[in-house]
Parts: sequence; C-alpha cells; structure tokens
Amino acid sequence: FRMAEADLEGYVKIVRSYRPRMLFGYPSALYRLATFARTRGESLTDSGIRAVFTTGERLYDDQRGAIAAVFGAPVANGYGGRDAGFIAHECPAGGMHLSAEDIIVEIVDGTGGRVAPGEPGEIVVTHLATRAFPFIRYRTGDIGILDDLPCSCGRGLPLLKDIQGRSTDFVVAADGTVMHGLALIYVVRDLPGVRAFKIIQESRHRIRVLIVPGTGFAASSRERIIRGFRERLGSMVEVLVETIPEITGEKSGKFRYVVSHAPEAAP
Ligand SMILES: [Zn+2]
Repeated sequence: FRMAEADLEGYVKIVRSYRPRMLFGYPSALYRLATFARTRGESLTDSGIRAVFTTGERLYDDQRGAIAAVFGAPVANGYGGRDAGFIAHECPAGGMHLSAEDIIVEIVDGTGGRVAPGEPGEIVVTHLATRAFPFIRYRTGDIGILDDLPCSCGRGLPLLKDIQGRSTDFVVAADGTVMHGLALIYVVRDLPGVRAFKIIQESRHRIRVLIVPGTGFAASSRERIIRGFRERLGSMVEVLVETIPEITGEKSGKFRYVVSHAPEAAP
C-alpha cells in the first residue's frame, strides 16, 4: 500500500471512477487518504461508498471521525490476528463482537493464566472450525480486555474492548525462555507511585526500567521491581531502575511499554 502524494491522488481518482460500495484498509492508510482528500478540499461523500471496513491496527476515534466525514459512510473496525483469521467484528452499535461460534478467545496474563473480565491481558485464540491446521491457544501478542457487559445491539456474542495491538515486545529470560512483556508489566504496573514506565531489555542479561515516579514511589518499590524481574528472567540478570521526569513515545507514534533488543525476542 504505497502512500506517497502522487499515489494518494491516484486512489482518490480510483474511488471516484470505480465507485466502490465498500472500502477496506488499514486505519492509518485510510486516515492518510482521508486527510489528503480533505486538505485538497475534495469530498468523496458522493462517491457511492456505503461502508468503510478497517482492520490490522487499532482505529483511533479521530481517525474514525475523519474517515467517516470524508467518505460519507460509517466506519467498522474488525480485529484479526495476522495469522489467526478474523477474531472480532464491529456491530453498528459500536461493540466489538467476538466470533464466538467457532473460536475461543481467552485473555491471559504473562504466565498463561486467565485474567478476569475488565482486566487487560494477551489475546489468545483457539479455532474450533479449522481442520487443516489446528490453532490451539495461539498467542497473538496483542493486548485486549474482555467486556463483561452486553452490547446495546442485543447480540449475545461476547465483546472485546480496547485492543491495544502489538504494543509490547516479547522478552527473553537468561535461560532463553521467550515470554510476553506482560510478565514484566504486571510487576511494575501495580506498584504505588508509578505514574508511567517503560521497560527496555538490552540483552538477555541486562534490562532497564524507566519510571516516572509519583508520590509513594520509594526505595522498597525499586527493590520489588528488581526482585520481580529476577524471578521471571533469572537471578543473575542485571536490573537497572532509573527515574526520569517524562517518557516520550516511539517515532512510529505507537507507545510501547516494553522494548526488547535481545535478538531472540523477535516474534
Ligand atoms: Zn453489538
């Protein structure tokens, strides 16, 4: 999906001439196309599009608004793993319904145990319908939250809310075990006095934790981080806890809580 200005101009022409009823794409790509059309003063609301489907990334509210305004159609976001097929579809009432007839979706913590509804965790998928290739507890690497409230549309399918996408790298223990970054996030997140944090694994044997401290962050908090990380990564791993005034986002604009430079952590 090439997105240079000349390409965008071409896409606008294609939309005008082919008059598709539906448009599919990544949220960021369609958003770029929409803002491009808007700055050119081009309206595509009369181009015949009835609905815009996005998938592959998180759809932010401002993206949804801009896409809907430029194309004059509602935007429905779907969620699917890169390899795991479609997992959830958005209904007109805005709920993200799991395709629960043929898949089982679990939200698990860093050790693989299920978390309660409303708690964030890694999205793990089991497909019941695929015969060719079994998908059993496939780990998507994405973070999501199961909603315990029914959708206002009346469909009984359970809801997935707040899909964070691959906001977290995997980390590698000293013995080579690869684990989800959540295993470390849980150690830091629930400590008192942590306003923001970022975990940077420099190698299997060295990891840095950047903390923006608030009131209540104490020497004992530091001790608990070091102890918790060593329990998971190995007792000899060097854990550096640094306090800083602010954490900046990635160049990509995505915020990642855990970044690993250990080569084994590549998914
Ligand atoms: Zn619904």
